[in-house]
Amino acid sequence: MFLNIRDVTLFFGENQVLAIDDISINEGELVTLLGPSGCGKSTLLRCITGLEQPKTGSILLDGQEIQAIPTKDRNIGFVFQNYALFPTMSVFDNVAFGLKIKKMKSEEINEKVFKILNLVNMTEHADKNVQLLSGGQKQRVALARSLVTEPKVLLLDEPLSALDARIRKQLQQDIRKIQQELKMTMIFVTHDQEEAMRISDRIFVLEAGRVSQVSTPEVLYQKP
Ligand code: ADP
Ligand code: ADP
Repeated sequence: MFLNIRDVTLFFGENQVLAIDDISINEGELVTLLGPSGCGKSTLLRCITGLEQPKTGSILLDGQEIQAIPTKDRNIGFVFQNYALFPTMSVFDNVAFGLKIKKMKSEEINEKVFKILNLVNMTEHADKNVQLLSGGQKQRVALARSLVTEPKVLLLDEPLSALDARIRKQLQQDIRKIQQELKMTMIFVTHDQEEAMRISDRIFVLEAGRVSQVSTPEVLYQKP
């Protein structure tokens, strides 16, 4: 397994927020964490990035304990609901940012950025300031910015919840297509069961910090 979350417990004060026995994810798999607001999805993502340290248990990424990997080598991508783009920059500069700080050559940056912009269908907007974009377009840029650094795993925290239904469906399809093309490991957080069923290989249903069910979309769909 590429990512193993084992016996993880975490408390905020007296409240036990996580009690995860086992979430194991294959390389190249897209899993969703499905559950209502407050069930611990974001907290679990913060544990995976190493931002939050569980009280017990282990989180292994590619065989290594996450807390033992230096932050700069963790290489975990994150897409947020609220885009978190650099508002004064162009689409190109937003996507190039992570490569520039790695001191990559500008030709190489150009090539990588345009390859990813093409993948998310934003090439024609490369020079636009991101503030001029629609919500869906902004999320495409945020996705490109995360993908361009080739993360080992990409975490998406309710990335489509702020978008209207039509745009959301289109982006669900596009994210799934891109994920399969790049064979990227993704963890997608949502409270929307339909969304989970549309995009994922497997669904982990969370209730009050525990996995109450693991299922493929087909099986979940057949449940009465
Ligand atoms: P979700 O992402 O599923 O909405 P969260 O992981 O944000 O759930 O929150 C899980 C629970 O932990 C909630 O009850 C929330 O109020 C609580 N919580 C989250 N972050 C903190 C924090 N920093 N301090 C105290 N309680 C928190
Ligand atoms: P999300 O929609 O991602 O679950 P929330 O709105 O639950 O986010 O939380 C936003 C921020 O507030 C998070 O950083 C979370 O850790 C923090 N937070 C959530 N619940 C609490 C709480 N009860 N006490 C303190 N911080 C909290």
